[in-house]
Amino acid sequence: MTPRPRLIVGNWKMHKTIPEAVGLVERLADLLKKSPPTNVTIVIAPPFTALSAVASALTAHGLFEGTGGGASRPGPPPVLLAAQDMHWEDAGAYTGEISPLMLKDLGCRYVIVGHSERRRSFGETDALVQKKVRAALRHGLRPILCIGETWDQRARNQTESVLAPQLTEALTGVDKDHGTEVVIAYEPVWAIGSGQPATPAQAREAHRHIRARLTALWGHETGGRVPILYGGSVTPENIGELLAIREVDGALVGGACLDPAQFARILAVASSAQA
Ligand code: PEP
Repeated sequence: MTPRPRLIVGNWKMHKTIPEAVGLVERLADLLKKSPPTNVTIVIAPPFTALSAVASALTAHGLFEGTGGGASRPGPPPVLLAAQDMHWEDAGAYTGEISPLMLKDLGCRYVIVGHSERRRSFGETDALVQKKVRAALRHGLRPILCIGETWDQRARNQTESVLAPQLTEALTGVDKDHGTEVVIAYEPVWAIGSGQPATPAQAREAHRHIRARLTALWGHETGGRVPILYGGSVTPENIGELLAIREVDGALVGGACLDPAQFARILAVASSAQA
């Protein structure tokens, strides 16, 4: 049986100047060409300032697939671009913000929304995240909706009661036809950047809960097709056991994606992971 394709997303956060970003992509491109991963969708989310330069560097390597899609060709799979956030309006008096149209201009296919760092440091609420999800879908960008509980909430047995409203409030108004464009990233807040990933049992349980909510919302057909990624201290060493969990469709990778060798190893493991 062909293993189901995995979705691996690298979130660069606020790292890399333009020359550094291009250097990282050049190195990653070389590694991907040397051992092309198969059956994996690769997405990277550099900072806004580097998106254009990264797209050009990928294009020069024949690895970029922008909004127009790409012809299938031999060699490594394309690297798709994501933004780390966006505003929900197309344009307007929103100093410092970036709109979905601007991201489309740059060739972005995905956008991360509701990352816990934005919820914590910038006061993002589920209502605001919902506006971003809907705006992304309106413009043909796939939202990667991040949800997750804090350590205190887990310790108080509140994981499911925290995940449920994060999910349903952010997806309110999203119809079933757009459901399959949504990607969910389960990112326990305590696992992000801590070096302490969720155990396979914790990840399995949370992913099952999320899947159940999605099928309740959109039915089995659509709810069953939404990719659910795990994020939080993913490394080349632990990605194998995480992807071995049937309920885990891929990963959102932070720190480890800043090292092209580590990211390439994660992609290699994802490529060989069995369903
Ligand atoms: C993240 O920020 O989305 C993340 C998963 O970070 P890390 O892999 O560094 O824990």
